Amino acid sequence: MKTCFLTYGCKANQYDTEILKQVLAEKGLKESDSPDIFIINTCTVTSKIDKEILKKIKQIKKDKNKKVILTGCLTKNDLKEIRNNVDLIIPNEKKFDVNFYPDWIFNKEDISQKNSFIKFAHKNKAFIKIEEGCNKFCSYCIVPYVRGSKIKIKNKEEVLAELKSFLNIGFKEIVFTGINLGLYGEKNIIDLLKESVKLLNNARIRLSSIGPVELTEKIIDFIADNQDKICPHFHLSMQSGDDKILKLMNRNYTVSFYEKKCNYIIKKIPYAGITTDIIAGFPGEGEKEFQNTFDFVKNIPLTRLHIFSYSDRNGTVAEKMQDKVKEEIKKQRVKKLILLGKEKEKEFIKKNIGLKRTVLVENTIKNGYKEGYTENYIKTILKGNINLSGNLISVLITDLNGDKAIADIL
Ligand code: SF4
Repeated sequence: MKTCFLTYGCKANQYDTEILKQVLAEKGLKESDSPDIFIINTCTVTSKIDKEILKKIKQIKKDKNKKVILTGCLTKNDLKEIRNNVDLIIPNEKKFDVNFYPDWIFNKEDISQKNSFIKFAHKNKAFIKIEEGCNKFCSYCIVPYVRGSKIKIKNKEEVLAELKSFLNIGFKEIVFTGINLGLYGEKNIIDLLKESVKLLNNARIRLSSIGPVELTEKIIDFIADNQDKICPHFHLSMQSGDDKILKLMNRNYTVSFYEKKCNYIIKKIPYAGITTDIIAGFPGEGEKEFQNTFDFVKNIPLTRLHIFSYSDRNGTVAEKMQDKVKEEIKKQRVKKLILLGKEKEKEFIKKNIGLKRTVLVENTIKNGYKEGYTENYIKTILKGNINLSGNLISVLITDLNGDKAIADIL
């Protein structure tokens, strides 16, 4: 039997899938591009994703010989239609326990003894999950219920051992991930980064999503002093640019607090990438509140936006809120914010023209050119023929092409 893995959702889920591949490969699971079995590691952050997953399952099951095994956050939901269409459900908390998987998925002759760390990669980056769980209980979010509200952190020694292994294999970008990295704690994260940078030699660390409250000035200062090793890129979830909506979301900060945090980052690191998530059409978001968000986003130094349309999640506080926004209006707001995001991205790229940056070269080639991301998270097209996938290369940003930068290799 041959298997492939599909992953939905955040970086933490991508990381889980990579671990899962390793755990199951050690028992003899064989990956293939023409699989008989699909193991789907699901996410349930929006009901749109639920629908996408169901569509995918139905598409796979059109071929009666194909099997679908479902795990991940969605397994906690009572979604009958999904359950009726899959062959097996492995509860999320059991997904790394091989005893829960049936024998027929394993090929005994393929029991792997390979170095498992090599399998943790995605687009030439390696991921280390350093934090799990969230106790913030944002009113729209199901994560604390499905991934747990008890914060678990990986100890420093363990993270450093994983980091060393990745570096020995040759990875040049290692992403520290978690549900909200800030929950690792200010002192812990600075201590970890201090030790980590000592190990890096022509490699870099990137931090994944971190909350604006938890991203303290001390953490920013440390990153500012170590920009050559820690990417000056902050994924600082904002969700709304209106105080009334932030309160309804239970986000525990105000618009002005968020703005000050962005300004502090830019004061310390003028070319930092600051990316964010915004939810459009949260219950109670009228025209005034949406306009506040739009104007706020326009005026602060954000460099890339991820826009989501609000959708109810079963069991959350927001699900029971009044004043739901009509689908049609949500769509219009999403569209406006996406357009604004594209403008901001372009603005940021233009600001970087004429500057030297470092790009991690990806494997794929688009329109004959390799691409990659700069340290401050600009998607960059690399001019010239290079065969340096997985390496960090110095480039000069020369131009803008759509929402990507163009760069000469130095
Ligand atoms: S910080 Fe809020 S949105 Fe993020 S995982 Fe925790 S509860 Fe969900």
